[in-house]
Amino acid sequence: MDAPAVFTDADFYQQSFDPREYLKEFYGLSDSQGRANTFLMQNLRSLVKMFSLDGLRGDTLIDIGCGPTIYQLLSACERFQQIIALDYMDQNRRELQKWLGNEAGAFDWRAVVKYVCELEGDREKWAEKEEKLRGKVKQVLKCDVTKANPTDPVSLPPADCLLSTLCLEAACKDLATFRSALRNIAALLKPGGHLVMLTVLRETYYAFNKQVFSCLHLERNAVVEAVEAAGFDVKFSEVQPYEPGDVRTDCEGVLSLVACKRASITG
Ligand code: SAH
Repeated sequence: MDAPAVFTDADFYQQSFDPREYLKEFYGLSDSQGRANTFLMQNLRSLVKMFSLDGLRGDTLIDIGCGPTIYQLLSACERFQQIIALDYMDQNRRELQKWLGNEAGAFDWRAVVKYVCELEGDREKWAEKEEKLRGKVKQVLKCDVTKANPTDPVSLPPADCLLSTLCLEAACKDLATFRSALRNIAALLKPGGHLVMLTVLRETYYAFNKQVFSCLHLERNAVVEAVEAAGFDVKFSEVQPYEPGDVRTDCEGVLSLVACKRASITG
């Protein structure tokens, strides 16, 4: 499989990205043949680790490019009082709302929630965690990371933490756009606040439901440099290699990164 000839933009997402199929394909703990979803499990472990670092707590966390998923918020919700979830796509925000509202037909995240509870020390707390998360997500809003104010026309008060998983590399067609998107989202954060990211490395496409989506090919250093240039000091970064042989993507690894926003931009 090859990457799309033209980088798939936000409108392509809006037209072609089916949230239910995305969830079915990538967010079960095991696939239809019973093989473990190591990509997801590694990412959950990284999130547990990052959200247990010192200083990662506060009032408000903004999740940027949340998609239809909640896995990225399961450890975050233990450390922050309220969560605002942002995504470009209407269907993704709707799918997330379904789970938050406990609506019939919402995706079943229980196995994933149990796995995270087990990592955090008590598998039996899964129902409590689900309720905690449902209570903490206060708003689900549209955003476009390529805009100077991603939530335009809404202006959000600066948050204590930004979280973004697998979004900027899907939303940005080149490194210049990626770097500017990081500056755009940095404006949503208080000085001294933290940025927590999961970013796929050296990936050019991912596919599901007979649709292929572009991904910006990124090296670890390019991400670290872009984060620093957007006004952050990187506090933690770690790469988990991704085993080759997955026909759905050419991803080679996932970078976990935590950075702290400097008081003034010097980079
Ligand atoms: N965070 C989720 C979803 C990642 S999929 C996860 O970890 O699985 C990539 C997401 O980026 C999609 O939800 C898509 O709607 C969003 N996206 C694409 N272009 C965007 C843009 N310009 N601004 C904000 N979000 C965008």
